[in-house]
Amino acid sequence: MTPALRLPPPPLPLPIPNPNPNGRKHITPPFLSRPSSTPAPSPFPISSPSAKRRISCSQKRTAPARYAVLGAGFAGLSVAWHLFKHSPRESRVCVDIYDEVGVGGGASGASGGLLHPYSPKAKVLWRGGECWKECLKLLTVAEGAVQAKGLTLDASSFNFDKPIVLRRGILRPATTEKNAEILKENAQNCLQSCTLEVLDGDAAHCRVPNLHVPFNSAIYMPQAMNIHPKKYLQALFLACLNFTEGTTASDCEEREMKLYRLSVSSFHELAGKYDAVIVCLGAKYNTLLELKGKLPLRTCRGVIAQLQLPNLDISGEYPNDSPSILSDAWLAFQGPQSVLMGSTWDWNSRNYSSEVTPEELSKAFEELLPKASTVYPAINRWELAGARAGLRAMPPLTPLGSLPLLGCVNDLVEGRSGCDYWLVGGLGARGLLYHGLLGKLMAHAVISSDATVLPSELTSWKQTKLVGTS
Ligand SMILES: Cc1cc2nc3c(=O)[nH]c(=O)nc-3n(C[C@H](O)[C@H](O)[C@H](O)COP(=O)(O)OP(=O)(O)OC[C@H]3O[C@@H](n4cnc5c(N)ncnc54)[C@H](O)[C@@H]3O)c2cc1C
Repeated sequence: MTPALRLPPPPLPLPIPNPNPNGRKHITPPFLSRPSSTPAPSPFPISSPSAKRRISCSQKRTAPARYAVLGAGFAGLSVAWHLFKHSPRESRVCVDIYDEVGVGGGASGASGGLLHPYSPKAKVLWRGGECWKECLKLLTVAEGAVQAKGLTLDASSFNFDKPIVLRRGILRPATTEKNAEILKENAQNCLQSCTLEVLDGDAAHCRVPNLHVPFNSAIYMPQAMNIHPKKYLQALFLACLNFTEGTTASDCEEREMKLYRLSVSSFHELAGKYDAVIVCLGAKYNTLLELKGKLPLRTCRGVIAQLQLPNLDISGEYPNDSPSILSDAWLAFQGPQSVLMGSTWDWNSRNYSSEVTPEELSKAFEELLPKASTVYPAINRWELAGARAGLRAMPPLTPLGSLPLLGCVNDLVEGRSGCDYWLVGGLGARGLLYHGLLGKLMAHAVISSDATVLPSELTSWKQTKLVGTS
């Protein structure tokens, strides 16, 4: 198991102090004109709260913008990073992140980390090109944070011994004759930034020795990748801290971030303290009193099994440059002797735990192994080494696909005074792909206090009448 990110003790004595005594009003930022270049990261201690950077331009000191981000998964950390990135250049910004578990405690930390912008039929997903681009940017930011020169962290606090991103590509063998035709046709309209190659059986075997390609056709995505989600989130958290250190900000900026390891059950607990609260609670949105039963989301638990090749079986090692494999079950290779096999789909589960009982694991293993061995029979030689699980928040299917839910939820909060409430939810089974763009869009909406900057496809859920969601 990866050790959890060790943070300073929670800075929060209960009850929650008021970080916004001045009741600051919203600012309308020129975020679109902000220079995009950021100086190279430099040393950063993890003690963010006390390491607040003092502004050098004291005449520009005004009440800071105070934001609360609920949830430190893909959505929450992307929102936090983009709030820092896109707030007006000379403004003061404080972001408090609340997570009952810590960084990556929900579905994000448990996910398979597979990343590409295509549907199972190789169609580009909704705004796939943009999502892909924004996600790659965040991956680069996270990698940069880890590689920062002169890292002053106690190395044992973080486990960055292995890469965050495995750029090995992904391959999907066709599952039927018809499927082979569809994949081939859709591949013609692939993105330039993430190309699709149609391979016959021989070419697929060159990529993955021992692959079974039942219909002599496969789609190969050379730029697709799998990431280590927990390490990535830890690194993105560090990248946010870099803002508070002034290492990615200009001289006149002041940024502050705190992580509170706390469960929030009602907006009232935060009343009067923030200019905006952004809910990024994934499948646990229902634990928030004001949202309970009000969002068109279903839950779906997924279990992932971790397998290892027995030490003596060197001939069975998976090549380092071979792609991960998608099929009815997927195989995300972590190294020559380590692979994640996923994932199950247990609809309407209310089991939020990342722990997997032996019974649940045994059931998942029996379900996944036959599916995976259809395309990669050698997986039968690998042994079970662990498991993890998470709960997806699944949005309704629309003509554009299963799209996340964004929006302002002020109407759900009684007695609201001066604070805006926002939602980033329903990232479904593609949170990694979506989180970069969603975080950016949401940050723009929050900073400008303007919901109209959000795409209508993602806010139209507010017009739908809810039936039987709870
Ligand atoms: C098994 C599995 C495999 C997956 N594989 C992939 C994949 O390969 N690629 C991909 O793109 N997507 C994948 N997904 C989907 C992806 O994980 C989700 O879309 C994504 O994690 C959702 O992110 P989030 O930030 O919205 O929610 P979460 O990651 O669930 O974050 C919510 C956070 O809020 C915290 N929290 C919850 N309630 C409270 C509260 N009341 N107070 C304070 N904090 C609270 C939690 O601790 C958690 O850290 C997978 C999902 C599962 C379950």
